[in-house]
Amino acid sequence: MSSHSIYKEKSLAHSIEHDLQVSVAKCYQCGKCSAGCPVNSEMDYPPSVVIRMLQTEDPILEEKLLRSYSIWMCVTCEMCYGRCPMEIDIPKVMDHLRELSLQEKKVNPKAKHIVQFHKAFLDSVKYTGRLSELGLIADYKMRTFALTQDVALAPKMIARGKLHFIPERIKNKLSMKNIFKKTINKKEKPE
Ligand code: SF4
Ligand code: SF4
Repeated sequence: MSSHSIYKEKSLAHSIEHDLQVSVAKCYQCGKCSAGCPVNSEMDYPPSVVIRMLQTEDPILEEKLLRSYSIWMCVTCEMCYGRCPMEIDIPKVMDHLRELSLQEKKVNPKAKHIVQFHKAFLDSVKYTGRLSELGLIADYKMRTFALTQDVALAPKMIARGKLHFIPERIKNKLSMKNIFKKTINKKEKPE
C-alpha cells in the first residue's frame, strides 16, 4: 500500500497502475471474479463492477468506490485473483482503495466496526508479534463499546483452549516494531 499515490492529480486507475503495477485496463468484464467471490452478495459493487468503475476514470464513480462498503467486505481470499484470466490482482486493488478511503476520511459508515477490528488486529501484532485473541477482543470491544456482544461464547472458547490469558510473544519484538516503523515512514515519505 502506498499513500504517496498520484490519485489526486490523475485517476484512481493511474494511481493503481503507478503504485501497485496493476492494470485495470486489461479487464474485459468476463465476470469470473464476481461469480467466485464468497461475499459478492454482501457487496454494494461486486469485484468486476469495482474494476469497471475504475476503468471509467470518472471522478463521481471513484468517489462512490472510496465510500463503498465493498472495499471493506473483501476478505482478501484471492478467489477472484485465482480465477481472473487476465491475472488482475483485485485483492491488492481493494487494499489500496481501503487505504485511500481511510486517508480521505471516506469510510462507509457501515464499515466502522470493520475498521476498528482491523486496527485492533494490527495493534496486537505490533505489540506481541503474534495475534492475541483475548487482546484483540478486549481492544475491539473498547473501541466499539460492544461490550456484551458475543460474550456468551467466551466460556466455550476458553474451555476449548481458543482464548489464552497470557499472550504469546515473539522473541525479537523490536524487529516487529521496526517493520511498523518502516511502513509508516514509507507512507509519510513524499513522492
Ligand atoms: S479477494 Fe475480495 S473481492 Fe476477491 S473474491 Fe475474495 S473477497 Fe471477493
Ligand atoms: S475475472 Fe478478471 S477479466 Fe474477468 S471481470 Fe474479473 S477482473 Fe475482469
